[in-house]
Amino acid sequence: MDQKIKVLYIAGTGKTGSTLLGKLLGQVEGVVDVGELINIDVQYAHDEKCGCSAPVKSCAFWTQVVEQGVGGIERLDRKRWHRLKTRYLPLLAIPGAKRFLTGYFAQLHDLHRAVHDVGGARVVADSSKSAFYGAVLNLFPDIDVYTLHLVRDVRASEGSMYRLKHEGSEKFSRRSTWWNSVRWMLVNLVTEWAAKWVRSPYERVRYEDLVAHPEQTLRKILDFVGASDAELGFLDGNTATLGKTHTIAGSGVRFKESAMDLKLDERWRTTLPEDKLAVVDRWTSRFRRRYGY
Ligand SMILES: [Zn+2]
Repeated sequence: MDQKIKVLYIAGTGKTGSTLLGKLLGQVEGVVDVGELINIDVQYAHDEKCGCSAPVKSCAFWTQVVEQGVGGIERLDRKRWHRLKTRYLPLLAIPGAKRFLTGYFAQLHDLHRAVHDVGGARVVADSSKSAFYGAVLNLFPDIDVYTLHLVRDVRASEGSMYRLKHEGSEKFSRRSTWWNSVRWMLVNLVTEWAAKWVRSPYERVRYEDLVAHPEQTLRKILDFVGASDAELGFLDGNTATLGKTHTIAGSGVRFKESAMDLKLDERWRTTLPEDKLAVVDRWTSRFRRRYGY
């Protein structure tokens, strides 16, 4: 029980390919991909599907994790859990905050401990992305958090959100292109800054490099988290043979159990209208250079 828990925390903005990255990492022996653990409350409330395709309430893995971690999902303090999704980062600056927050959010620790023990995890990959959640996770002395900042060209993220909006997604219907652009810059800056502040080891990868050079990029991530000896037998060039993972929330790729060709999704070049692209360019063209876009 006193063994340290190693968490690879995938941080950054939405629509960056974090589900795909988690899924790929989940194919590595000893890496347990939990998806967006931050959304476990909502996934249980609606009995959404786990990555293994079973409804989460029927999934043997999560049933055991939740029982061992918090004594059953009905014991999860939904109000407190929901607060992990907020932007309370400045709280960390208050003297005594560490003690308060580790007590208040103890269930975050307990669920991670249970994932580690039930999954036999050498590394837990959590793609919750929120900076506050990541910072709180960093406060627990027996959890070593490695922050992996995943970035993706804002034009592709906006193209993806624009497409979902027009497919009727409620989540993206109220967001404007201007706000998405500003938010992309802010969230990326806060992600960098928060990792520094809580002294979490930090590494950054670009989604575009992951799909263009999967082996090289995954190797860089595994080196970062101290798992250099891990084998990537599921990869053959840019083809990944994907197996089952038990993941909470994320995009549809988490259900995939077959071979998948990794390639750059450039649909934004044709789907994003010129006026929207002009707005993204106006706001982000200088900042984008920070990540080589
Ligand atoms: Zn499952």
